Amino acid sequence: MLTDLKFEFRPYRRPFRQPLRTHHGLWLIREGILIRLTDIGTGIHRYGEIAPIPWFGSETLEQALQFCQQLPRQISKAYLFGIPEELPACQFGFESAGLALQDPDGFNRDLSGLAFCGLLPAGEAALTQAGSLYEQGYRVLKWKVGVRERQQEWQVLTDLIKHLPQDCHLRLDANGGLTGLEAHEWLALCDQVNHHSPGRIEFLEQPLSPNHSTELVHLSQQYQTPIALDESVAQLSQLKRLHQSGWVGILVVKPALLGSCLALQDYRDQHPELDLVFSSALETPIGAWHGIAWAGSLQPKTACPRALGWGVGSFFPTWDPLTLLRASAEERETLLQEVWDFYG
Ligand SMILES: [Mg+2]
Repeated sequence: MLTDLKFEFRPYRRPFRQPLRTHHGLWLIREGILIRLTDIGTGIHRYGEIAPIPWFGSETLEQALQFCQQLPRQISKAYLFGIPEELPACQFGFESAGLALQDPDGFNRDLSGLAFCGLLPAGEAALTQAGSLYEQGYRVLKWKVGVRERQQEWQVLTDLIKHLPQDCHLRLDANGGLTGLEAHEWLALCDQVNHHSPGRIEFLEQPLSPNHSTELVHLSQQYQTPIALDESVAQLSQLKRLHQSGWVGILVVKPALLGSCLALQDYRDQHPELDLVFSSALETPIGAWHGIAWAGSLQPKTACPRALGWGVGSFFPTWDPLTLLRASAEERETLLQEVWDFYG
């Protein structure tokens, strides 16, 4: 069983359609590594993706490359599930490819009933995108805040609320970029919006940077609008630590950065009260498919139904991962192979 696997890897560089503006600056090119495992006995192969984001606490691309370069070209199953915790993006890439090879039925699970959250561009561009995402069927949209002038962002938010239909909800994501005062002001504004239109702002994500954990707890106790933590819990060890310290709010899981999703599944089984929201790390369809499959399997068993954050197709010129949801197993294999071949 999976004792003899051929291991191959290919680094990729994938430019965004428009540079992505976050609190950490402009992001022009998504870089990562695709891997392919082939069962030497059967000839069947499956893909995986290592998509690190170092400013999210994962290993760097160079560290991931070094790890791949030192592996033998022929490996055993033990390698796939024994990757050190310091390399969480590698853990995800190898584990998910290994599971797909081991359990093709799990890989083919039906994900057609899931709800997704669409990602809006920062600033005023959100206003032109929002209507089109709503028309595409999205009922939850996420928008980055703390990127532009506050007054300007408040105006955009007010316009979004005014123009979007009542059944469209918003997630605001500050990527840890607000000051304490700004966080209070944003939360007060969110409470005001939600007072008039309950649940309109689903949550404010990571208002302060992860090293302000005490202040984040205080904020969560002072406002009605929920706070979701993302950067604070990028890896599973951090998520466990925070949950065990008494955090009862929402936790964002980016499977591609978390580490072992098998270990997350165990932890979730022990703690059904966990309120998790799953989200993309802007992977290619290879990593996205594994991430969505995990999200589809774990999210329904968590405390609260929440849309999955993979509505990011418009950020790249090609390969919207959500097209995989409507694809047959054969069509999906073709697309995943196309992604692999493209970087050959
Ligand atoms: Mg976030």
